Amino acid sequence: MSTRVLIVEDEPKIAGLLRDYFVHAGFEAEVLSRGDEVAERVQGWRPQLVVLDLQLPGKDGIEVCRELRAQGSEPAVMMVTARVDEVDRLIGLEIGADDYVCKPFSPREVVARARAILRRLQPNQARGCLQVGPLELDRVAHVLRVAGQTLALTPIEFGLIETMLAHPQRVWSRGQLLERVRGTDFAGYERNIDGHVKNLRRKLRERLDGRDPIRSVYGVGYGLDAEVLAVE
Ligand code: CA
Repeated sequence: MSTRVLIVEDEPKIAGLLRDYFVHAGFEAEVLSRGDEVAERVQGWRPQLVVLDLQLPGKDGIEVCRELRAQGSEPAVMMVTARVDEVDRLIGLEIGADDYVCKPFSPREVVARARAILRRLQPNQARGCLQVGPLELDRVAHVLRVAGQTLALTPIEFGLIETMLAHPQRVWSRGQLLERVRGTDFAGYERNIDGHVKNLRRKLRERLDGRDPIRSVYGVGYGLDAEVLAVE
C-alpha cells in the first residue's frame, strides 16, 4: 500500500503542483484547502503525512497541528510557511510539527524532506524500533541501546527518550512530556520532568563521549539535538 499524504493548501496552483510531485513519487495524495476540514479527514483517511500550510481559511496551520496532536493523531506534520522569520517562532511554539519548509520551495525538496521524515518514522516503527543516530530503542524488548550497548533506564526515562525518538524534530513542553509518561505512575508536577531529563541526559552523555543529545529550548521544553546525533 502506498504512503498517504494529505496536502492542506489554499493556493490551488501550489496544491496541484505538490500533489503531482507526490503522486509522481509514488505517494497517494489528497488535497484540502481549508484548515477546519483537516482533523476529520485525518481521522477518516489516516494519512502518514500532513503537509500543512500555515495560513489557511477556516483554521490556521498552528491550530490544526495542535488539534491533531490533541486528538492523538500521529501523522507526521510538515509545516509550510511563506515567512522565513516565522520559522523560529514556529519551532518555539509547542505545536508538535515534525519539520518545516519555507515558501517559495521546490516541490522536489518537499518530497525529499517528506521521504526523510517518513524514513525516520515508519520502517523502524513497524518493527517496534526507533533509531536516531547511535540511539536505538526497541519497543518490543523495551530496551535502549546506545551505539549498540544496552543502557539501563527508569520507566520514566525510557518514556521520555521513546517520546523524543518517535518525533526527532519536535520540541516538547514539560506538560506534553508528562502526558506521555503518565502511564508510568508518575504523579509529580511539570517541573519534576526536569530531574528525570537531567538523569537521562547524564546517562546518555556518559555513553556519547560527553555529547549531549537532548537540547533545552528556553521557555518551551526539550527535544533531541539532531546535530549531535548525526555526528556518529
Ligand atoms: Ca495559504
